[in-house]
Amino acid sequence: MNNYDNIDFIKLELKFSDPDGMVKPSYKTKEYHPSKHLILKIDCPRISCINGGFDITSEVKEALLNNENVVNLTSSCQGWQDSRRINKNRCLCHMSCNVTLGYTNT
Ligand SMILES: [Zn+2]
Repeated sequence: MNNYDNIDFIKLELKFSDPDGMVKPSYKTKEYHPSKHLILKIDCPRISCINGGFDITSEVKEALLNNENVVNLTSSCQGWQDSRRINKNRCLCHMSCNVTLGYTNT
């Protein structure tokens, strides 16, 4: 599926928390209006994180194929805590994402 003509919007409500307490619980929303390409990558809120972040592209694509209206995704960051802890300590910052999908035709 490479055509998103019937998608009006994709809204993400993101909540982050960190088991180490390095990141204050934070909340943000993002809205996308995809046309040809859909790439949903979310930056890790931990500033020192190396190679982290969250890619929810495939999960959201699957939800679109199933005509879902709301999905909830959770994930843990698989990056490294900081440059001294590469290959030692994973970031594991936790993300909870509420995805609302809007379609132009119902
Ligand atoms: Zn991270």
